[in-house]
Amino acid sequence: MKISPNINSQKMVTLTAQQKHVLFEKGTEAAFTGKYWDNHDAGMYVCAACDNELFSSDTKFDSGTGWPSFYAPVAKENVMMDSDTTYGMIRTEVMCNRCGGHLGHVFDDGPKPTGQRFCINSASLDFKKKDTQVIKSSP
Ligand SMILES: [Zn+2]
Repeated sequence: MKISPNINSQKMVTLTAQQKHVLFEKGTEAAFTGKYWDNHDAGMYVCAACDNELFSSDTKFDSGTGWPSFYAPVAKENVMMDSDTTYGMIRTEVMCNRCGGHLGHVFDDGPKPTGQRFCINSASLDFKKKDTQVIKSSP
């Protein structure tokens, strides 16, 4: 297991054992157990290890799989993809392009407009809720 220098060391200490397992040992959380599969708030999903922006709530959809699912990353260059042939399946692994942390897999049975389904572990993500309203109080 290689830890990238891009990982935020302050964030590392806040990661749970399960998050480290998913991110750095390519683990998978059990379906319907993660924090975000049923999250419908507007905001940005960032890498749990390095804060890299990965997926926007705008592209999240209900896949019924029990994992947060998106039809596109925020930007193609923010994620890295690689062929994964473990468990006797040919899948495409999705990783964070900044720290190399494992995020999940991408399948080509997603909805329009991309037809892709990024099936991502909640454990690999942190959610930054969009401020719906900023109230500025006078001093
Ligand atoms: Zn990362």
